[in-house]
Amino acid sequence: MSIREILLGNPGADNALLATVDTGQSLHRILFDCGEGCLNSLKQSEIQSIEHLCFSHFHMDHVSGFDTFFRHNYNRPDGPVQVWGPEHSVEVMGNRFRSFTWNLHKNQPGEWIICELRGEAIHGSRFRTREAFAEAHELPQKSLERRTLFSRPEFRIEVMALPHHTIQSLAYRIVESDRIKICPDALKRSGLNPGKWLQEITISDYEEGQMIEVDGQSLSLKKLREDLLTSSAGQSIAYLTDFCIEKDTDAWQEAVEWLSGTDKLVVECQYHSRDQSLADRNGHMTATAVGRLAADSKVGQVMLMHLSRRYSREEWAELLAEVQAEFPRAAFTNHWNF
Ligand SMILES: [Zn+2]
Ligand SMILES: [Zn+2]
Repeated sequence: MSIREILLGNPGADNALLATVDTGQSLHRILFDCGEGCLNSLKQSEIQSIEHLCFSHFHMDHVSGFDTFFRHNYNRPDGPVQVWGPEHSVEVMGNRFRSFTWNLHKNQPGEWIICELRGEAIHGSRFRTREAFAEAHELPQKSLERRTLFSRPEFRIEVMALPHHTIQSLAYRIVESDRIKICPDALKRSGLNPGKWLQEITISDYEEGQMIEVDGQSLSLKKLREDLLTSSAGQSIAYLTDFCIEKDTDAWQEAVEWLSGTDKLVVECQYHSRDQSLADRNGHMTATAVGRLAADSKVGQVMLMHLSRRYSREEWAELLAEVQAEFPRAAFTNHWNF
């Protein structure tokens, strides 16, 4: 199991993040934001295999590339496209879908499920291509538990709403489930013969007192799990953009607790610390604040993105140095060639 990430777009231009969770059995692609030109470097097959599109917010630089995404996926035959976003996402997406001429759609496949976070509640609606997206079919409301928007056995997607000037920007985190493995030494010590039963004991869904047949004996499943299994934490990656929080506030503390121990933090780095007033006015972080947040959260690594185009390439390098002064394991993505 692993999570791979590709930062899309160039320095000073719109950026987006494509994460691929590889469960060993299947690949799951999750796109965070969709600014202008961000999909240009992806193959059509990659764009068409994105399962989740997670919007932070709907400022133009995060949504300008959506038409390209939609064009490749509007009639996807193999299951719905799932879109997540802040309040009003259903309305924003519905308007977008309907802003084309539809007259050849009647027999087209294609379904879109749009979910928006309103406080601690998730509201969703389903749109159908064959209906020309005319109707938003409302889905049952769900409550957000432990920040989890979506989960399947191998991974989950979490969310946290952060302040961005007068609106909210959603931050996301993908967390792989713990990896359960058979410990070869423990198996050897047990004297039991390997067989199909080994796979059965790794399934966490079992009843108290359940027994299992191994080598002609009936053994406690719980005891076998305790004796033979080891678990290690899965990987995690967080995506935070267009937000402004200050140290020694509740919001900062909440973000630190949530991000604590995350392997990789992909985060905006819009402004130099000398432009603090500009950052405050526009609801963004400075480089120094980003570095402090990473250090306080004890994340593994930081990848910086969403750099202001007001700066030169040399000044972008200074932004990186400012972050590194607080948190040394920060970098730009390799293909930016810094
Ligand atoms: Zn932005
Ligand atoms: Zn913004």
